[in-house]
Amino acid sequence: MACKAGYILVKRPMQCIIITIGDELLIGQTIDTNSAWMAQQLNLLGIAVTRRIAIADERNAIINALNETVGKTDLVLLTGGLGPTADDITKPVLCGYFGGKLVVNLEVQEHVRKIFSKSDRPILQRNLAQAEVPDVCTVLFNRVGTAPGMWFENDGTIVVAMPGVPFEMQAIMEDEVLPRISKAFITNNILHKTLITAGMGESYIAEQIAAIEQSLPAHISLAYLPSPGMVKLRLTAQGNNRSELESEIEIFAVQIKQRLGIIVAADEDISMEQIIVNLLKQHQRTVTFAESCTGGYLAHRLTLVPGASEVFNGSMVTYANAIKQRYLHVPDTVLQTDGAVSEATVLQMATQARIMFEADIAIAVSGILGPGGGTDEKPVGLVWIGLATTLHAYARKFLFRHDRVRNKELIFQAAYDMLRKELLAENGVEG
Ligand code: ATP
Ligand code: MG
Repeated sequence: MACKAGYILVKRPMQCIIITIGDELLIGQTIDTNSAWMAQQLNLLGIAVTRRIAIADERNAIINALNETVGKTDLVLLTGGLGPTADDITKPVLCGYFGGKLVVNLEVQEHVRKIFSKSDRPILQRNLAQAEVPDVCTVLFNRVGTAPGMWFENDGTIVVAMPGVPFEMQAIMEDEVLPRISKAFITNNILHKTLITAGMGESYIAEQIAAIEQSLPAHISLAYLPSPGMVKLRLTAQGNNRSELESEIEIFAVQIKQRLGIIVAADEDISMEQIIVNLLKQHQRTVTFAESCTGGYLAHRLTLVPGASEVFNGSMVTYANAIKQRYLHVPDTVLQTDGAVSEATVLQMATQARIMFEADIAIAVSGILGPGGGTDEKPVGLVWIGLATTLHAYARKFLFRHDRVRNKELIFQAAYDMLRKELLAENGVEG
């Protein structure tokens, strides 16, 4: 028989299993963001998530998942299926599993009534039924919705059930669950430190830092997280003494930074566009773009960053040759002889855009994204990226071999990396 929150005290690093319930998760209609969010929060408290399980809204599936986890781990966090509709069966199943019966909780009932009185919607019996809770659990108040969370303790395991709606789950976690577990169970720290690298593959990076990686103590691990054009390096340290861990992890981060040099773009987990906006602000520079095949994507990414207006006046999408010619003054002869995807074209695009938008640096892009339009001389995936400043202009040629969407992402990474290196070089940092 389960009992209410009595705080099982755990003297070793606590372990958690996350169970997400919902047919929509299994058919791929909804992406399970709840697990990721909960795992991040638990990590901050030093609680390791050892398994994540996604199951259907089915009685047997829920019971099997409980059998697999209760008594075998410290904490089980469960979301989904607590709503008022017939497909929401988690509550009665949990109640039966833990040997309780459903009773009306007056506080929850009052809360449900209040929520409905604020809107014009009539309150239905099925809404009032949300105030029924198992008598063997501690009720966790849901300030943003009608379905309360439930906290059971059984066989050395805490089981917490919460609604599937992400913001309701998050409110209950923040208000009720995290404070309770951090008070009673914290015995360990998990610290992460992320380095962002740009323009180099993970195998090359692994070669470069092999000796540092081998020297890591058992309680510090290194993970490679590659995505198009960049690799994140995440150091994770676990132990009791937080400040000791902080200085230890910092020592290894500095070693890696020194070894890799300019390919390390940041020593915190931020986006490439944020890195560029930070650098532009730091060196008081503005940027513009003249884009052909990326159709405005380079400018879009910059404007994702709050405060981009300090470093960006505007930019241009020049897709057709006639537009490149008319607005960016790419000469007809260049378009005829070198073509739209050429060094000469992107150099002129960048040079003219920089003047037009009164920017310190301009980036221009022209390429063939495919699937059609390639020739032997200029295959699909060929991209020229030009860069112009008040002092000089240069261009680089790339060959990307993926689909249009991925190629655009790779162009973004390559262009922003050129921008980053230009800003560093102007300020005395050489690659
Ligand atoms: P409700 O009161 O809305 O019925 P509930 O507890 O029954 O709440 P669900 O019906 O399972 O929750 O899901 C409600 C909404 O939350 C759905 O839109 C669903 O797609 C979303 N959701 C459920 N589980 C997750 C999850 N693990 N990650 C992200 N979204 C989720
Ligand atoms: Mg559901």
